[in-house]
Amino acid sequence: MNILLFGPPGAGKGTQSALLVEKNGMKHISTGDLFREAIKNKTPLGIEAKGFIDQGKLVPDSVTINMVKEALKSTGGKPFILDGFPRNVSQAQALKTLLVELNLKLDKALFLEVPKDDLIGRLSGRRVCRDCGAVYHISAKPLKDGKTCDSCGGQDVYQRNDDKAESIATRLQVYEDSTRPLKEYYKGQEILTEIVGTGDESDVYARVKIAMNS
Ligand code: AMP
Repeated sequence: MNILLFGPPGAGKGTQSALLVEKNGMKHISTGDLFREAIKNKTPLGIEAKGFIDQGKLVPDSVTINMVKEALKSTGGKPFILDGFPRNVSQAQALKTLLVELNLKLDKALFLEVPKDDLIGRLSGRRVCRDCGAVYHISAKPLKDGKTCDSCGGQDVYQRNDDKAESIATRLQVYEDSTRPLKEYYKGQEILTEIVGTGDESDVYARVKIAMNS
């Protein structure tokens, strides 16, 4: 089953995707992760994307869609999770064309809903391991010794530039203006399921599984 996980920034898309990969062997396609990898490696794509990302704005569609096309071509036939793409209706339309071209099908669009106040707390307290991408939170999921990544032992657990206050405000606005309308779009395609994204990550995961099996 191929799924799309979408929702506001901080809704837990990355966390749920990681659980789906671990427990179901799905292929995770996260445009945010792909951009961060390109930035880390200082590729032309990364250099182009960095300015947009740090400010909390969307990277231009043409760049993003090409990147997703390459990722979809290299799933090796595994079921995939699209996380963070599409982020607006024009990307959703491009995805539809792309899937036809690659002979692939999207089975479900799962929307994770979390109240705005929770999102701000989740985003501003989030910390990420630069080596393995493991995600922490200063109060909800702190590092065991305060500085070392519990998963890989990495020493550089940092705050993303776009998790700082000014960028968070822009990202939430971009979400309201551009991404939230995707709910209507996927309702129209009859593949939308809404999921309550608050609570423990295992509780949310249980809801994700129910939605996938329904
Ligand atoms: P994320 O890790 O999904 O929160 O994405 C981090 C940032 O990467 C976003 O705030 C955007 O700047 C950029 N980004 C990720 N996915 C997309 C997309 N589908 N379209 C445009 N920009 C994106």
